Amino acid sequence: MLKENFESARPNYPLYKHNKIIGYIEFDKTNKKLEDFLDTALYLISLKVQNIVLTNRMQKSIDFQNAMKNIAKIIETQYELHYIIPLLGEMIDKFIQNHLIYIFIKDKHEYKLMWPGACNDNKIMDIINAEPRKRVTTDELGVFPLINENQILGYVITKKIDDKLTLKEIEYLEDLSKQAATTINRANAYAEILKHATLDALTGFYNRRQLEERTKQEIASSRRQKTPLCAIMTDIDFFKKVNDTYGHTVGDLVLKTVSKVMRSQLREYDIAGRYGGEEFVILLPFTKITEAKMVAERLRKAIENKVIDISKINPESPEKEIKVTISLGVYQLKTEDKETDLINNADKALYKAKETGRNKVVINE
Ligand code: GH3
Ligand code: MG
Ligand code: MG
Repeated sequence: MLKENFESARPNYPLYKHNKIIGYIEFDKTNKKLEDFLDTALYLISLKVQNIVLTNRMQKSIDFQNAMKNIAKIIETQYELHYIIPLLGEMIDKFIQNHLIYIFIKDKHEYKLMWPGACNDNKIMDIINAEPRKRVTTDELGVFPLINENQILGYVITKKIDDKLTLKEIEYLEDLSKQAATTINRANAYAEILKHATLDALTGFYNRRQLEERTKQEIASSRRQKTPLCAIMTDIDFFKKVNDTYGHTVGDLVLKTVSKVMRSQLREYDIAGRYGGEEFVILLPFTKITEAKMVAERLRKAIENKVIDISKINPESPEKEIKVTISLGVYQLKTEDKETDLINNADKALYKAKETGRNKVVINE
């Protein structure tokens, strides 16, 4: 900080930073006391102004670090890449403006785009297939390898819309790629372990693989014994909004609560499985479509009436309690059906329930 000469005719005290004037303090030159005061205070004032400038600049970096921490927290409790990668994608999108973001993950021997839905740029595929182990940045593209223990797990790609990546943005992306690589590696390892598990960790329902196994068995047994078999497919309405509004840990609590309420409404030999994120399948052996419809309606009402206390999980939320609804599709297995038809046809009915207003049961006959 430099100080302007007092004796000059200047009426103001300028505030400097690196020879640039960043503000002025006006004072009455005839007031000696004020002059003395300013003499000592000026240094502190300048420092304060500099701090504000710096703080603003640092805020983005703090936001970034916080977002990284949040992502890390979510990923600690999640193992599905289909859930984790879109979160990473959304987060990068927030911090790297003016660029399209793509995330590719290695699946056996090829790289698959996992965020967003499509990438029509052949140049990107060419670079990825060359499997660079270090960052590649051109005027247009940024290619950041996701490497863990010497293995390439995937790539984060940026494609410029206007300006090329700034040095700060490159730094962000490098940090993030490191974090992403460790978490993807952990998710992969966890998924490997879970292959041998039968239950979904969050809900206690059968996991997808086991559900498919049980579906085959139930279809076979229904055919053998000539007994009816129905499937209900359910999906929580506007669940993304629950995550976005109250946070993913509240989202997890909602999933747990919904599954618990569902289980309490079912018979012991009914089979409940977690099909995907917030989608559940229920198999009802020895059950005809009219009965299955009643079960579905009972589930719908039970969820609609359930009050979920979120105050412990998210104390900052102004709402202490929330409610959610589910949509349901119901289908009864027919003699001529293929194995996959049972769940697919329930899913078609669910789609209709969503399309025609949600929080309802639709039958596919
Ligand atoms: P719709 O009424 O059409 O079903 O809308 P939706 O928002 O429920 O549907 P969408 O499929 O867009 O959102 C599902 C969300 O579920 C997106 C994903 O982040 C979230 N999700 C998936 N798995 C989990 C999980 O294990 N925990 C949490 N908290 N969220 C999850
Ligand atoms: Mg869904
Ligand atoms: Mg949903």
